[in-house]
Amino acid sequence: MSHPAAPTSLDKLNKFKFKRLINEDPLTHSLILLGSFPVPVDGSTESEDVMAIVRIEKTALDPAQAQHLFADDGIVKRIALEESTDIYTWLFGWLGEDRERDIKINVICPATDIHIRKYTKQEVFMVRETPELYESTVKPYITAFPAARTQWVENILLGLSEQNKVLYSSPDFMILPDMKWDLKTISSLYLVALVQDRSIRTLRDLRRRHVSLLKAIRREGERVVQEKWALGKGSLRMYVHYQPSYLNANQAGMMGMTVGQAHLLDDIISLEPLRSGAPSHKDWEALKSAVNGRLFEGVPFAHPCFTQGFNSTECVAVQTSYVDEVARSNVAAAYIQTQWETCQTSDDRCLLSYTDPRDQSPTMPPNKCGLGSIPERFIDVRTAEDVAAAFRFSKRTKVPLVIKNTGHDYKGRSSAPRSLALWTHNLKDISYNPDFVPEGCSKANPGVTVGAGVQWGEAYAFAEAHNITIVGGSDRSVGVAGGWLQGGGHGALSNTMGLGVDRVLEFKVVTPDGHYRTANECQNKDLFFALRGGGGGTFGVVLESTLLASPQVTLQTVIVAFSPITARTNELWSILADNGLQWADEGWGGFSTSGIAILINPGSNKEAASKSMEPLVDFGRRLQREGVASAQVIQTEFPSWGTFFDMFTKDHVAVVGSSLALASRLISKRNFKTPANRSALVSGLLAADAATPGLIILISAPSSFPSTGQTSVTDAWRSSVYHVTVVSAWNWNATVDEKQGHYSAVSRSIDNLRAITADAAYLNEADVYEPNYQVAFWGEHYPELLRIKKKYDPHHLLDCWQCVGWNPKSPRFACYLPEENNVTDWDVYHSYSKQGFDIPIQRRVQSRNYRRRDVSGSTGLGVDSDVLYTVPVELGNSVAAVNIDTGSSDLWVVSDACQTDACKGSSVARYPLSTAKLTGTDVKLLYGDSTTGTFASGAVGLETTSVAGVAIEDQPFGLINATDNQIVQFQTAGILGLGFPSGSKIQEARVIGKFGPQVNTDDFIRATATDGPLLSRIAMTGELEQPMFSITLQRSTIDIGGEGVLTVGKLPDGVDSSSLTWVPVRLYDVENGGLGPPIFAPDEASSPPLHPGENTLIPIRPGLEVSTSTQCSRWEIDLDGVFLDGRRVVDSTIPPVGVNPGRITALIDTGNSILRGPEDMVNAIFKIVSPNFDPANVDENPPVPCSVPHTLAFQIGGKMFPVDPRDFIGPRADGDTTTCVADTLIDTDAPRKGSLYRWSLGDPFLKSNLVAFYYGNLTHPSVDPPRIGFLSTVPSNADDLLRQAVEDAKNNGAPPDPTNSTETLVVAPTASAAAAADITVSLPPTPSGMVTRTVNVDARPPTSTSSVKVDSENAAFALAPSLRFGFWVCAYIALLLLV
Ligand SMILES: Cc1cc2nc3c(=O)[nH]c(=O)nc-3n(C[C@H](O)[C@H](O)[C@H](O)COP(=O)(O)OP(=O)(O)OC[C@H]3O[C@@H](n4cnc5c(N)ncnc54)[C@H](O)[C@@H]3O)c2cc1C
Repeated sequence: MSHPAAPTSLDKLNKFKFKRLINEDPLTHSLILLGSFPVPVDGSTESEDVMAIVRIEKTALDPAQAQHLFADDGIVKRIALEESTDIYTWLFGWLGEDRERDIKINVICPATDIHIRKYTKQEVFMVRETPELYESTVKPYITAFPAARTQWVENILLGLSEQNKVLYSSPDFMILPDMKWDLKTISSLYLVALVQDRSIRTLRDLRRRHVSLLKAIRREGERVVQEKWALGKGSLRMYVHYQPSYLNANQAGMMGMTVGQAHLLDDIISLEPLRSGAPSHKDWEALKSAVNGRLFEGVPFAHPCFTQGFNSTECVAVQTSYVDEVARSNVAAAYIQTQWETCQTSDDRCLLSYTDPRDQSPTMPPNKCGLGSIPERFIDVRTAEDVAAAFRFSKRTKVPLVIKNTGHDYKGRSSAPRSLALWTHNLKDISYNPDFVPEGCSKANPGVTVGAGVQWGEAYAFAEAHNITIVGGSDRSVGVAGGWLQGGGHGALSNTMGLGVDRVLEFKVVTPDGHYRTANECQNKDLFFALRGGGGGTFGVVLESTLLASPQVTLQTVIVAFSPITARTNELWSILADNGLQWADEGWGGFSTSGIAILINPGSNKEAASKSMEPLVDFGRRLQREGVASAQVIQTEFPSWGTFFDMFTKDHVAVVGSSLALASRLISKRNFKTPANRSALVSGLLAADAATPGLIILISAPSSFPSTGQTSVTDAWRSSVYHVTVVSAWNWNATVDEKQGHYSAVSRSIDNLRAITADAAYLNEADVYEPNYQVAFWGEHYPELLRIKKKYDPHHLLDCWQCVGWNPKSPRFACYLPEENNVTDWDVYHSYSKQGFDIPIQRRVQSRNYRRRDVSGSTGLGVDSDVLYTVPVELGNSVAAVNIDTGSSDLWVVSDACQTDACKGSSVARYPLSTAKLTGTDVKLLYGDSTTGTFASGAVGLETTSVAGVAIEDQPFGLINATDNQIVQFQTAGILGLGFPSGSKIQEARVIGKFGPQVNTDDFIRATATDGPLLSRIAMTGELEQPMFSITLQRSTIDIGGEGVLTVGKLPDGVDSSSLTWVPVRLYDVENGGLGPPIFAPDEASSPPLHPGENTLIPIRPGLEVSTSTQCSRWEIDLDGVFLDGRRVVDSTIPPVGVNPGRITALIDTGNSILRGPEDMVNAIFKIVSPNFDPANVDENPPVPCSVPHTLAFQIGGKMFPVDPRDFIGPRADGDTTTCVADTLIDTDAPRKGSLYRWSLGDPFLKSNLVAFYYGNLTHPSVDPPRIGFLSTVPSNADDLLRQAVEDAKNNGAPPDPTNSTETLVVAPTASAAAAADITVSLPPTPSGMVTRTVNVDARPPTSTSSVKVDSENAAFALAPSLRFGFWVCAYIALLLLV
């Protein structure tokens, strides 16, 4: 009998009192309700409620009805199309009227046999897929898939379909909703990640290099769902389909993951074979046999102390020699600076305390002994064949190779986690030949030939025994022929006898192709050049080298020592500085720290030495007379370098067994020239020593050694006197923050010298995070070194930190710490930075009212502009709001002498000509295209100029005395051109003023540092995080930067470089208006050309002979195609003028308020959006229905970048909410010399996309080429927003403002008013913490990235989490591999 409350009839069921929904399950189409039913109370007419659970599930579809579903009078009454791509369409259906949608319909049409088989019911068997079965059956099956089957994936990846759905996109992968998801029900949320790498077809294609990709998918997936749906990390189940089509065939209709079909992403990421690259045991055995058994495992130096007991004999031996550099250099897995034995990022280590190796605590639990960065295996190298075998092994297995000699490297270049090391220590042969003739040459020289394992202590002893001198370093255990020699090699004799690289006669080297080569002045000359300063570990494995031997030298020596206090050190270093040039000329070399100076001279005699050293000796004697503690003066002569070295190394033992950060600077002769220079130098030295005590002045630059010009170290060595180092050490238990603190401490400390010296450092002893390291280490030689690297190591088998051609993304660098400010973007890591900043962009508005073909191409540059974007620039004591323009390169402001009509009507504050520092040069600047055009002319002045507080002295700028440019009537004082130096008319005028009209490329490029455009000069100072700026021109409702932000030196905060699509800047050859390569960098011409007719890598420059009216600075990029509403617009056939038809390119121009394109394409677009469009009627803009959205999209780098439909149209007339006009598109000139682009994409495009402009290396673009990055900011519901805007306008009785129906635009105050207000611009954290600067800008509230608003509408991305609702939910992200 049923319970009295049981609802056995509909009447009773209808009495259900609903309380709440307690569960829902879209998979089973069920809801579970909680409520109650009434039950009569015995003996009474009353009733009481009894709790009840009701589960309602939709019944299965009736197979008997299958044939009646679709027909004129079929069961399905109504449908709605959801999406259709390629052969797949999905819809929703209704089985009757006035009801919620009942069914979801997926259609595959045309369906192939495979589809039919896939969807036909089958029996399921589990098959264990062995690697062999995969190779024999599965792989051929997958390979045979016809392209059409994966076309839908291709379409998405190529940006041809479903782009409005994309939630995240990077060059590597995209995330978007799976088609099985209804896009609404959060509890069944289902997203897919599609990877761009077509070589990943199944799980079995995943390799170690893909782990970072998988991690990025995990990271971005979590971020997307957090930001879009407020779902926490635990809500997601992420898995990889194992070739889904194949298995889905058996699981049709199943959503989610099924054992055997899917594998958890986390599990895959943690798989050991993926993490280790895992060559098999067989592989290792084969290698071992190839190297005659000399392959062994890396065992940390301190290992016995963790495994054999702290008091064991083995551990006591370790304790005793823990800080002994010779002992360490004899052990394969030991390094002199112990951080390079550890993994700094994961803290995997096996260390003792260097201050007290007898302290047991480092070995006590939970401390463990881990391999850290120590190579997993070592080959004890004895022959060239050993090295060749290692290269073959590394090429095949991808196990990273390192070359380890003594392990002295300060930058960790001789260790790497999970690597194979070539240990050269036992190549100890050494011989002397008084008549050494390099192979293939004829000239004989005395030469000492050393095996790659010989150390300086051994070499000096050998030289002493043979009565000769060889020039080496100041430490006995550093290797002769490894990193020391190949990185430069300085010593106290270098002043007169040269650097190591100056004295090398020959190398024997195995290059990564396995060839054993001889490199000298007569053969393999390029390799010889590269090995003479290009850095160790880069071009090959040197097995031996021959160094020039000189006769023994007697050394005049003066040593002054005392216990240091700042005043005394100041006096000592002032004496060194005051006499620096003279002593360098006389041949003095040596060392100095805060309490000692040791000077030696191999080319002097006692009398001359005494006279010369008088100031130093007098100082020492005075200290002695004054009774200063430990004051000593030694004046003596040593009969040879060896005898001096023995004495010296007795007292000067290197710090080893510690972890150490170092930084270096070369101090040029210029720093000694004037009293002011010398005083600045001494102050810089004292400040650096105070910041990080332990500064060493190495008087070891080859300042009086005649250079052969054949070495690849930076030429700055030749004009330098000192090389200065600073250090900061830490012990075994330092935290990550503390380690980062030490690295940044030395970097900040050396900044005291960076500020006053040229950009030059010694690569072996430099800041691990040396900014602009290519220039600092190699100067102008870097491009040539890169070419040689590519020639000899095309498969990139050798790699090391900040080495020529390195790949910062390589997993071998996983143990290097990011800089203190947490730079984790390894993509841009090589261009370290000191700062980047945001400047709010101010928008000036004027109503749009112009005729087609009657508009200037430039916002603010023409009479009918509608929107100006300005930023404040400080010129001396005044602030000017200037229009930002990526289409030009010059800064100008209107002066008080301007009397043209445009100026007369302007209320903008003018720059007073009378107070200006004029250069005597005039300039005329032209803007616009052939139908429109404006000018600005006047004098060139110099002024300290700054943006966001970053000041550049003597910045040339235009003081405009005449202009027809109407921007000055809209509270805009001038223009800030952000184009390349090569397009700067002011730089050109300055250079011609200095050198006359026959200016060559070299003069022009060199002048960039002093006369170039403001932002280029700031970029060249190395002060920026990255040499770039980015621009967002959003409406205030579309975020990132509110009204817009000009971000200099970095991307806006929260924007990841990998989320942008980066494309190269178009390069012009000389015939097309480009600039030929300078003599100092001839290889900036690319051979073979990158594209036909493009043989220069210098970005785009009008050769000076080109008409001065031609603007040639171009942020110009390739366009893959132009699309309207998803269909490609036929490319233009209008012939270019005087140049060959080339690729289709577009100028990205913030100074252009509209979109400009070729007339035939523009007309074709108008004909589609405006059926009655008449090309002959230039008086009227094409009318378009206001509420019909049109998407004009530009395909760039394989991805679509649409213009928001709201930016495509504008209102036609007051009160008209029906008909609008397509007024943001007009036609422009055909390509011509100096202007090869067909499209110019102005503000509508920039409002829809964040665009990053990356200058790269402005003098050596091949080192770091210019490029542009794009990120679409168009919300996925932009169409709806347009319709809503029109609807709102109708309801409000106002004309639609499609750009923003609710926005109130305020005309900004004038520049003079702006000067009165202070706002705070926040800079990114620097090593010393967050810096804020106060600058005078405009009075409106700042819109820096710190106040980014979340765009809840923006499906494409939002920068901060939007917390709308959240509940635990089982959601999915599936990584769909290509099937
Ligand atoms: C205590 C101390 C004192 C120093 N004094 C001086 C000095 O007076 N003057 C000076 O100029 N420098 C000096 N240095 C810096 C020294 O030049 C560098 O540390 C140098 O990198 C050491 O080279 P290495 O071969 O001995 O060391 P390793 O760490 O074994 O190697 C350093 C780099 O060279 C590469 N390498 C090593 N051998 C080979 C080879 N055979 N073929 C190709 N690449 C190879 C390695 O892969 C690595 O990239 C000193 C360093 C220390 C620690």
